[in-house]
Amino acid sequence: MKDTAGCMYCDEAVEYVVHDEKHHVKVLDDEYDVILKYARCKKCGHKVYPHKLAIYNDKVVYDKYRERKGLLTSSQIKEIRKKRKMNQVELAKFLRLGDKTIARYETGTIQEKSLDLLLRLVDNDEAFEAIKKLNSKKK
Ligand SMILES: [Zn+2]
Repeated sequence: MKDTAGCMYCDEAVEYVVHDEKHHVKVLDDEYDVILKYARCKKCGHKVYPHKLAIYNDKVVYDKYRERKGLLTSSQIKEIRKKRKMNQVELAKFLRLGDKTIARYETGTIQEKSLDLLLRLVDNDEAFEAIKKLNSKKK
């Protein structure tokens, strides 16, 4: 099945053509150029906004910010979690964070530098074992 999006002009779900556009974006304290993906209706040529591309564009914008600031990207955070065979809630609990914290960072929210450091510790075998030991101690 082909991807479709709602076209305001055709008043129906239409197939679309994707193209790249260069944009200058401002994120927090930084600004830079990114190549984002936009779509046009195959029938009338007007712009359509597939949800899938919005998610893709957010990831491009935020991951570039992270790269520029030396922070882990959302995919890298996910890789670290998978390496430790934990789901998002388990990793959040392991780091004594709110249940939804990891899910937020894997889907776009930019992590604070302190949290970035915690995630890098999870990636490090010795640090990981040390945290595990601390967490296993009875209160
Ligand atoms: Zn159209």
